[in-house]
Amino acid sequence: MKIESVYFGEEHHLFRATLRAFVEKELKPHADEWEQAGLFPRELFGAFGKLGYLGLRFPEEYGGQGLDYWYTVILCEELVRCQSLGVGVGLLVQSEMATSVINRYGTAEQKREFLAPAIAGEKIAALGITEPGHGSNVAGIRTRARREGGDWVIHGAKIFISNGTRADFVTLAARTGDEGARGISLILVPTDAKGFTVGRALKKMGTHSSDLAELGFDDVRVPLGNLVGEAGRGFGYIMELFQGERLTLASFANGIMQALWEEILQYGKTRQVFGQQIVQHQYWRHRLADMLAQMEAARQLTYYACDRLNRTASAQQEVSMAKLYACELVKRVAETALQLHGGYGYMEEYPIARFYRDVAAFGIGAGTSEVMREIIAKEAIDR
Ligand SMILES: Cc1cc2nc3c(=O)[nH]c(=O)nc-3n(C[C@H](O)[C@H](O)[C@H](O)COP(=O)(O)OP(=O)(O)OC[C@H]3O[C@@H](n4cnc5c(N)ncnc54)[C@H](O)[C@@H]3O)c2cc1C
Repeated sequence: MKIESVYFGEEHHLFRATLRAFVEKELKPHADEWEQAGLFPRELFGAFGKLGYLGLRFPEEYGGQGLDYWYTVILCEELVRCQSLGVGVGLLVQSEMATSVINRYGTAEQKREFLAPAIAGEKIAALGITEPGHGSNVAGIRTRARREGGDWVIHGAKIFISNGTRADFVTLAARTGDEGARGISLILVPTDAKGFTVGRALKKMGTHSSDLAELGFDDVRVPLGNLVGEAGRGFGYIMELFQGERLTLASFANGIMQALWEEILQYGKTRQVFGQQIVQHQYWRHRLADMLAQMEAARQLTYYACDRLNRTASAQQEVSMAKLYACELVKRVAETALQLHGGYGYMEEYPIARFYRDVAAFGIGAGTSEVMREIIAKEAIDR
């Protein structure tokens, strides 16, 4: 099915079609195996790097494609169709969440050492912000980096870090100054540094093919040159870059809703209840019509946010709205899909159960729904 938008030209449709074929042929057949193994193979990073998917928005000078956010949106929408969301999460942490800040504020040396190998899929990247005591309240983080000679000496702990069990470097939020948002900096930490440890690999409810780890920093030393941008500006960078991360989550949600819709149609037209296809019962026709209208609203709001983000430095309001709306809606769509499938929807042999579990975290990761509401309200009511 061709996904239409006033924003898409032929090149976007072509990109989507190529990607969809790749996902169908190379990823989907392995989804069950990777889900059961609890991790997709490391080689996928290399394969995605070769195809150019890990550097869509990044400059050609470092191996990127020099494109805009539209391609990231399409990548997210299509990747989820492999039915193993962890693949999308792992790859987008690499290509968007942990590396955007290096692209925007990093030095040429940092780009050569960290960004270029991440784009090629040779080094795996993770983003380390959340701590056991501080999640939504990023300004409260306690992991500290102090200057000693030519080094930062880092001490603290992180939790819920995607790609954390096998990352080659972590884009780390650490406190280099006073309490509060102005004391936070971003530092690039190679994971072979002495004192760095990977704690438990956390067992999750869904996204089974990606990893989530606790990380420890016991006086880890890295050169002062690993500071990204300016000291004390890390919180601002995080808030700025969360826009790309949130657009990514909204796009995953839209892609999953599209995939669920296709499952609903397929099953609802095949299964007969009381002598009629499920979708011929008026109850379901109207329920699905409402749902489809909301799905379209989520998609178009996300596209509007993407357009704003491409054209302006900040689209915080629009991106927060898209993230909130799409990531809450996808949970209801998954519930509807499960209900329409009856007992079969509860069985692992249908993709619904997996999607249902995976989307439970969509209102949590990349800023919770409550935090999105706070951002929207602050802008709309307080300013
Ligand atoms: C699958 C997954 C992957 C993740 N990957 C990463 C990663 O790669 N890197 C990383 O750094 N982190 C990652 N995280 C962590 C994620 O960003 C945090 O879980 C999230 O920010 C919420 O923090 P918390 O879990 O500490 O919840 P808390 O901040 O403790 O929040 C608990 C509840 O309180 C609510 N709340 C918070 N503030 C307010 C408020 N002002 N008003 C009303 N309610 C409020 C929240 O919305 C939530 O419902 C990941 C999480 C998950 C689930």
